[in-house]
Amino acid sequence: MNEAEIQRQKEIKEAEELLFTGPQALGFAKGLFLGRFVSDWAMPYPRIPAAQQAELDQSLAEIRRFLDTELDSTAIDRNADIPRSVIDGLARHGVLGMTAPREFGGRGFSQRAYCKVLEEIGARCASTSVFTNAHHSIGIRALLLFGTREQKQRWLPPLVTGQQLAAFALTEEQAGSDAANVQTTATPSADGSHFILNGEKRYITNASIAHVLTVMARTPVPGSDKTAITAFLVTPDMPGFQMLEPRMEKLGIKGTATGRFAMCDMAVPKENILGPMGKGLKVALTVLDFGRTTFGACCTGAARTCLRLAVEHANKRRQFKKTLGEFDLVKKKIARMAADLYAMEAMTAVTASLIDRGLEDYMVETAMLKVFTTERLWEAVNDAFQIHGGSAYFTDLPLERMLRDARINQIGEGSNEVLTSFIALVGMRGPGMEFKEIYDTMFNPARGLGKAWTAGMNRLGAAVRVPNVPVKSEALRGQASQLGRLIWRFNLSVNRALIKYREPVMDMQLIQERIAGVAMEMFASACVLSRLDSDLKGISQNGASAPANRKAAQLFLRQSFHRIRRFLTELTENDDAELLATANSVLGKPERPVSNGS
Ligand SMILES: Cc1cc2nc3c(=O)[nH]c(=O)nc-3n(C[C@H](O)[C@H](O)[C@H](O)COP(=O)(O)OP(=O)(O)OC[C@H]3O[C@@H](n4cnc5c(N)ncnc54)[C@H](O)[C@@H]3O)c2cc1C
Repeated sequence: MNEAEIQRQKEIKEAEELLFTGPQALGFAKGLFLGRFVSDWAMPYPRIPAAQQAELDQSLAEIRRFLDTELDSTAIDRNADIPRSVIDGLARHGVLGMTAPREFGGRGFSQRAYCKVLEEIGARCASTSVFTNAHHSIGIRALLLFGTREQKQRWLPPLVTGQQLAAFALTEEQAGSDAANVQTTATPSADGSHFILNGEKRYITNASIAHVLTVMARTPVPGSDKTAITAFLVTPDMPGFQMLEPRMEKLGIKGTATGRFAMCDMAVPKENILGPMGKGLKVALTVLDFGRTTFGACCTGAARTCLRLAVEHANKRRQFKKTLGEFDLVKKKIARMAADLYAMEAMTAVTASLIDRGLEDYMVETAMLKVFTTERLWEAVNDAFQIHGGSAYFTDLPLERMLRDARINQIGEGSNEVLTSFIALVGMRGPGMEFKEIYDTMFNPARGLGKAWTAGMNRLGAAVRVPNVPVKSEALRGQASQLGRLIWRFNLSVNRALIKYREPVMDMQLIQERIAGVAMEMFASACVLSRLDSDLKGISQNGASAPANRKAAQLFLRQSFHRIRRFLTELTENDDAELLATANSVLGKPERPVSNGS
C-alpha cells in the first residue's frame, strides 16, 4: 500500500468508528438506498399531540405579536446589531430555551414545535433566526445532549432563560469543511485538574456576545501519540481568552455577531469537558444534526415570505396592460415556489419528528433537509427578486437583504457539496456492506457460503420487490406506486454503481451528487405524499387544506419524479469525462483517465 492508500484506509476506519458505531435501527433515508420504504418514520404525517398543540398555538400567537411589533429586520440589518430588547423579548417568550427540559427552566417543547417557532422568525429576519439557532440549536445543544446532571444544573438555567447567551465554536483556519482537522490543542495539566487550550477560532456566530462557548480542541489519547477532538465549555472571562474580532464585517445576516477569537494558554477545568474525552467530533456532528433541522425551519419560513411577496407583487404590478401574474413565465416561478414551499414544510415537520420520536440515527435526513431547503430558498429568493424587477434592487424592499442573508445557508453548518457527498456515501454504505460481504465470502469460503447466500438473496430480494408506499387516499395511489417503482429503480442503480465502481466510487462526486439528488427528491416526495394524504383525509392540523396547496403538492410530486428520472438517466448518460477533463485542464492539473459512468 502506498502512503495515499494508507491515509485513505485510516480515514475510512475513522469515519466508520464515528458514523457507524452504536445501535443502527434502519431509518427512512438508509432504507431508500436498500430499496425499502420504511413507512413508519414518514407516515402517517406527524401530528403534535393536542395538549402540546394548544400550548404551541398560544406561544405562536404571542411570539407573532411580539415579532410583528418589536422586530425591525431592516434596522437590524442597517445597524448590524440585534438590539437587546429583541433578545430579551425572545427570552421572555421562552424561545431561547424552548426545547430544554422544564426542570432547568426551559419550555420542554418538541423539535417539531420549536421548528414552527423558527419558521416564524425565519420568515421575518434571518439575522434573528441565525442568532437563535447559534444559541439554542447548537450553542447549548452539546450541554443538553451530553452534559452530566451536575453540568446541566450548573450551566443551563441562565442560558435557557436568556440571561446568558451561547455559541458553538468548531471552525478554524484549517478546519472548515474538514471539521476533523481542528488544530486547537488542549493539553492536560501535570496534576490533571485542568487543560491548557491554545488555538484560534473564526467565523463563530455569537462569539463576542456569548457567556458560554462550546469549543472543540484536540486532546492527547492516553497511551498513544495520537490526539482526538474533545468538547469543552469555555467562558470568555477565562484568562487567555482573547476576542480578536468581535464582529467581522460581512455580506448578510449582518445583525449577528460573527467573531474570531484566540485562546492563549487558557486553563479550563476538567469538569468543563462535555461528553466523553476524545469524542468531540461525534458531539459536534450530533449537535449539527439539530442545527440542520432548525436551519430547515428557518429557510422554510423565509421561502414563505418570498412566495407572499411574489404573489402580492405579481397581482399588483401591471405591464403591457396586464398584471405580471398573467404572464406564464411569472406563473412558472410562482407555481414552483409554492410547490417547493409545500415540500419544505413537510420535510421540516417529518425530519423534526424523527428526532422527537426517538430515531437514533437521523444524520442523513437532517443533511438532506439542510441541502434541500437551502437550495430551494436560494431559488425562491432569486425568483421573487426577478418578479420584482428593478424594485428588488433597492433597500426599501426586503428582497435585497433576503438575497444577501440567504447566501450563507448553502455554506454554513456543512457546505452543501460536503453534505451531498455525505448523503450518498452514508446511504450507499448499507448496500455496499452487503456486497462487501458477498465478495469477502467468495474470497474466503471458510466464512461460510450461508452468509454470502443470505446477503445475495437480500440484494436480489430488494431488486425484485417494489416497495409499498401506504397512502390512505385513493386519489394518491397512482403517485404512491410511482414513488415505489422509483425507489426500486434507485436501489438497482445504487447496486449497479457499487458493482461497477467499487471503492473508487468514494471519490466520484459527480456520481454521488446524482445518487444524493435522487435520495433527497424521494425523501421530499415521501414527505409531500404523507402530508397531502393527511390533508386529503381532513386530519391536517393546519385546518382544511386550501386547493392551491393541494395543487402545489401535486405539482411538486410531478416535478420531483421528473428530476429523479433525470438523475437516474444521467448516472449512465453524462458528460462527466469531458467535464472533468476540461476542469483539470483549466486548473492546470495533469491529464488523468476518468471514468464517465457510462
Ligand atoms: C456567517 C457565518 C457564520 C458561521 N457560524 C459558525 C459558528 O457559529 N460556528 C462554527 O463552528 N462555524 C461557523 N461558521 C463556519 C462555517 O461552518 C464554515 O464556513 C463552513 O463549514 C465552510 O468552511 P470554510 O468556510 O472553511 O470553507 P472551505 O472548507 O474552505 O470550503 C470552501 C468550499 O469548497 C467546497 N468544498 C470543500 N470541501 C469539499 C469537498 N469535500 N467536496 C466538494 N467541495 C468541497 C465547498 O463548495 C465549500 O463551500 C460560520 C460561517 C459564516 C460565514
